[in-house]
Amino acid sequence: MKRLSLILVLIMFLLISSALFGEDGDESSPPVLVDISELAGETGAVLRFDYWKGIYELRKGSRSVRFTAGTSWYLLNYTELRPELVSELTKDGHFLIDYETAAVIKEFFVKASPGSYGIKYIVLDPGHGGKDPGAIGYYLDDNNEKKALNEKDVVLETAMETAALLEARYPDKEVILTRSDDRYLKLEERTGIANSVELAENESMIFVSIHANASFNSKARGFEVWYLPPEYRRDLIDPESFKDIDSDVLPILNTMLEEEYTIESVILGEKLLVSLDGQVGNLTENRGPKEESWFVVRNAKMPSVLIELGFVTNNDEAVLLASHAYLKKLSKGIYNGVVDFINDYEHTRGYIK
Ligand SMILES: [Zn+2]
Repeated sequence: MKRLSLILVLIMFLLISSALFGEDGDESSPPVLVDISELAGETGAVLRFDYWKGIYELRKGSRSVRFTAGTSWYLLNYTELRPELVSELTKDGHFLIDYETAAVIKEFFVKASPGSYGIKYIVLDPGHGGKDPGAIGYYLDDNNEKKALNEKDVVLETAMETAALLEARYPDKEVILTRSDDRYLKLEERTGIANSVELAENESMIFVSIHANASFNSKARGFEVWYLPPEYRRDLIDPESFKDIDSDVLPILNTMLEEEYTIESVILGEKLLVSLDGQVGNLTENRGPKEESWFVVRNAKMPSVLIELGFVTNNDEAVLLASHAYLKKLSKGIYNGVVDFINDYEHTRGYIK
């Protein structure tokens, strides 16, 4: 009897060790797989699944790990591609990964620093400038004199005012203006300024482009916020850095990354509309959110929106946009929206542990 149980124990031991160290042992033995929902429980990460895109994400604080079924890699913190993943999607919808990868991910989450994670840079981009006046409108001043109103001046003053408010509120963040005087900047110079900022692991940034509108319809008025259509894919991942990877994989990776920016851009856009409405909603129209792939929005590799403050081609609105008091209100509106977004991003949604 005793010998039998000893043999059983020995067999058990062999089975377990061959499973655990399958790589060194029998080639045919299947790897030990770990359910990522269990991994979430063990590490305190939150597991999300995007049904339409087929993306699984484990998230804890600033740290994210993403998987898609049927591939042999996973994406660490939005940018770092790790190959050699063994995974399996069970019939009842459980996503399993190999033991070695699970150990790496566990370590990755354990190391997640409890320190602050947040928006470190706020890029404000007043449109046009210098030889490019942007939209031009006309209005009658108090003396009934016809005056021209340049978009480039309206947006610069608003951006500068907003920057001053944000700088006072956030001494620990950096507010970057793509221009702070009447100078001409190419579109790619604007996004280049933003994209060249080197972010630390716990830092993030947002991009807010500020414009004023024009229309052949002189009655058109109001503010609006544009962001990238969710289905639009920017080339966020440089193919050069993933030379060894099957090129079919890059679009999927881009989708994984884009999903993050799109969600943030929509949230930022919605908050800006609410806060602008709070400031000037009684004076002009809230034209709501718009979706468009403007160059600046498209090429800023971060959550980004474009605000149209109002129509310089509408006589009444041009009078408003020509007044410093009104631009102060618009600046306060942008400021409030950004603050609300940052509060939400850094606290409510659990980025700070
Ligand atoms: Zn413009």
